[in-house]
Amino acid sequence: MPTPIPFDNTYARLPERFYAKQNAAAVPAPKLLRANSALAVELGIDPAWLETEEALDVFSGKQIAAGSEPLAQAYAGHQFGGFVPQLGDGRALLLGEVVDQNGTRRDIQLKGSGRTPFSRGGDGKSALGPVLREYIVSEAVHALGVPTTRALAAVSTGESVLRQEGHLAGGIFTRVASSHIRVGTFQYFYASNDADALRELADYTIARHYPDAAESDNPYLTLLERVIEAQAKLVPHWMSLGFIHGVMNTDNTAISGETIDYGPCAFMDDFHPQCVFSSIDSNGRYAWGSQPNMARWNLERFAETLLSLISEDSKTAIEKATTALGTFSGQFRSEYDKRFLAKFGLAEDAPLDIVRSGLSLLTKQEVDFTLFFRHLTYENRNELNALFKDPALLDEWYAAWEAATQSNPNTAAMRQSNPILIPRNHRIEQAIQSAYGNDFAPFNKLVDALAKPYEDRAEYAAYEKAPKPEEIVHQTFCGT
Ligand code: AMP
Ligand code: MG
Repeated sequence: MPTPIPFDNTYARLPERFYAKQNAAAVPAPKLLRANSALAVELGIDPAWLETEEALDVFSGKQIAAGSEPLAQAYAGHQFGGFVPQLGDGRALLLGEVVDQNGTRRDIQLKGSGRTPFSRGGDGKSALGPVLREYIVSEAVHALGVPTTRALAAVSTGESVLRQEGHLAGGIFTRVASSHIRVGTFQYFYASNDADALRELADYTIARHYPDAAESDNPYLTLLERVIEAQAKLVPHWMSLGFIHGVMNTDNTAISGETIDYGPCAFMDDFHPQCVFSSIDSNGRYAWGSQPNMARWNLERFAETLLSLISEDSKTAIEKATTALGTFSGQFRSEYDKRFLAKFGLAEDAPLDIVRSGLSLLTKQEVDFTLFFRHLTYENRNELNALFKDPALLDEWYAAWEAATQSNPNTAAMRQSNPILIPRNHRIEQAIQSAYGNDFAPFNKLVDALAKPYEDRAEYAAYEKAPKPEEIVHQTFCGT
């Protein structure tokens, strides 16, 4: 019988202190809620297999697929600025890796599969809500064109988990990532002064993610530069779509440059630079507009772990790392400007006044970010007007915008950077609440709607709409 998942594991070959081997906990009555056949094909998995009993057993942790070597990865991390020397996969298991059809190595991971040596006080499980949330949002973020971990499957477990809200139906999420190596993975070995492990991790990371760095004069400095570059691209991409990650802790910062760990993340409705949704972010540390500074802070923590590898002479190492970190804001800025100029249909070298005045107008008038750009793109003046409390302010700005574009906005660029559909918080919430009531139709329809976010499809028109006042979600919660 052919093996259903063509595992080819490398992380499990790293020294034993990188992880703890661990099997999933038993669950009483697993049911497949959704599987991603397009992603399966990419991974070399027969999509027909996804619907089999065996697949359900694998995605619920009941059966260890041939070639799988389940393990919980060790990592540390700064959470809201405070360092925790040991976090690790407390509710996740890396099943193994596959080399996909493009030759890229990808991790397949279960999330919510029970306790591990890293669980601390937690139960290692997940409620259905966070599972469906990560499914919806990570697939939407992918469809929006942003690097991200992916959703391969979601199952319900038939078991209830106890959370603040009470007993909730449990679930397990199967996540695919180009790796789960985080800034926090490096910090784990840095904090324990394990120079050998740090070097081995850095070499592994270079070989897996930035192989060209191996050819450079200083591979570890090049690794730092590549990771800086990846974050300087990722964060403005998020921001251009109104995305707020919510928990940009160093353990939630992937070295690959993918968006990872969808907890209390959100796409904003009304635009405000200080917008925050996360219930645990009371100081607004990870607000929409604070994300570049936080990314830079996380990169500084990453750089620290590499210093002794960059140079044996600490002064030289600090100089080189500082120079590399110094390029972050310039790279971020040019990427951010490029994305926002495209959103406004302006040329790449156009002055930025219209971007600034446009965003400040949206803030003052509390305008829906996505709808504004959607209607600007399609020049729906009536719909645009309706978004403003004082349409006269729009008229004035619009005239300036038309002048800046010489009445010839780059609509192709606008269509590619201004989505019609985003995973709106109230829709996610409705999908989750229906699922707790055993109705998965809203979840499935939402995932389907978000698969083509830049296309105007009549059947999904309702998903464009901003929430009614009573539907507005003001806070989002982490999955723990
Ligand atoms: P997160 O907030 O998802 O980034 O998780 C932070 C840390 O808490 C990680 O080490 C997780 O593995 C751990 N964690 C989160 N939820 C649970 C849980 N239900 N049981 C055990 N560990 C958990
Ligand atoms: Mg995390």
